[in-house]
Amino acid sequence: MTVEPFAAVDVIRAKRDGGRLTDAQIDWVLDAYTRGVVGDEQMAALAMAVFLRGMDAHETARWTGAMIDSGERLTLACSRPTVDKHSTGGVGDKITLPLAPLVAACGAAVPQLSGRGLGHTGGTLDKLEAVPGWRAELSTDEIARQLEDVGAVVCAATPTLAPADRKLYALRDVTATVEAVPLIASSIMSKKIAEGAGRLVLDVKVGSGAFMKTREQARALAASLVEIGAAHDVATTALLTDMGTPLGAAVGNAVEVAEAVEVLQGGGPADVVELTLALAREMLALAGLGDVDPERVLASGQAYETWCRMIRAQGGDPDAPLPRPRHVHVVEAAESGVVASLDAYRVGVAAWRLGAGRARKSDPVQPAAGVRCLAKPGERVDRGQPLFELHTDTPEAVAAAQPLLDAALVLKDVAESGGSGHDAGHDAGHDTGNDTGNDTGNDTENDNAPAAVEAREGVVLERWESGRS
Ligand code: URA
Repeated sequence: MTVEPFAAVDVIRAKRDGGRLTDAQIDWVLDAYTRGVVGDEQMAALAMAVFLRGMDAHETARWTGAMIDSGERLTLACSRPTVDKHSTGGVGDKITLPLAPLVAACGAAVPQLSGRGLGHTGGTLDKLEAVPGWRAELSTDEIARQLEDVGAVVCAATPTLAPADRKLYALRDVTATVEAVPLIASSIMSKKIAEGAGRLVLDVKVGSGAFMKTREQARALAASLVEIGAAHDVATTALLTDMGTPLGAAVGNAVEVAEAVEVLQGGGPADVVELTLALAREMLALAGLGDVDPERVLASGQAYETWCRMIRAQGGDPDAPLPRPRHVHVVEAAESGVVASLDAYRVGVAAWRLGAGRARKSDPVQPAAGVRCLAKPGERVDRGQPLFELHTDTPEAVAAAQPLLDAALVLKDVAESGGSGHDAGHDAGHDTGNDTGNDTGNDTENDNAPAAVEAREGVVLERWESGRS
């Protein structure tokens, strides 16, 4: 019988009383939790103690290391410099799709082991699975081969990486202990380091559609992430980026793939292009390829070619038509005005209700479901002009999604200058799908209407790298 060096209750008590956990306590508690010797009830109490009392930078780095050591650690040998990227998750965040092939076309190798979405932010794998034939599950040998041949791989992470995090994250989800910076930072970094990332760029989202609603929270997370990177010898840079309004026009699965392809073919929304290029520059700088201009490579069509090879390597057909929804519902402006704001969280939940996301891990997603936002903050719209397209295979979902979109978009009178914004209204909308539907409009007043138009000046707000901003 193994004699355990600590009692879980003593570790919990130490943190509950505001103490600092020793390295040995941290290593033991995460190992014992993975083995099932420390139970969920004890780990839940410890997670709550950490939530309330925090952990310092050393404890957080050690906690991360213990979670990495709970499983396998990948080493992906490649003749090119490898560099990874992680986003904390946002609405319309399809950036991995154009970014991975772009950075590969610039000469680096990008292994992106990703997850499926839960809640209002979509998952990269759910989006890519809208491409006919594409498969997410690859063996380690297949990942290594594709990385060498194509330079970019986006695939499912295996359950053998950081199993302690997998177990703990599920527990935090049901014990109101997700929103703790040391726990979030160690969770993200343990997975990335276990995947073999030696260079990492983090896209830390801030705003209504993000985990971190305020700049202060996002800064604390960015600082903790880069500190962990430094402690584990991973060159890490973090960008704080705006998630107050969705990225681009498309929110969902196939609609986001289509928008990513537009970017790869030299078009696409300005904010998606801006963020793709900003992250590409950071990744290339870390990979020692700072003299390569990603804007030029994007314009040359090489990134699109790499996208096609990346999709084909995983069984997908980049030329096949993407799935189309059975039902499309259009919401039009009831009045003319200027879009004062468009709330990312509400748009994300609307897309989720249309079938683009899942409530439970085991739920399927509809590849064709989503929202297209046809007017973004700062744009003028005329009465009758389409504001949103709702895509779904389940038309009854429109009634649940549309009120959220009505509340998400705030129109300001054109004549008004700098006064209070108000919801200038949206009409009942109309259906353009195969069925006639029977949707009724639903104007929802937004009590939090901003005082002025919130045109986005730039997506990138701040930059952080090891130890300094
Ligand atoms: N994403 C993660 O991987 N872990 C967290 O704790 C939160 C977001």
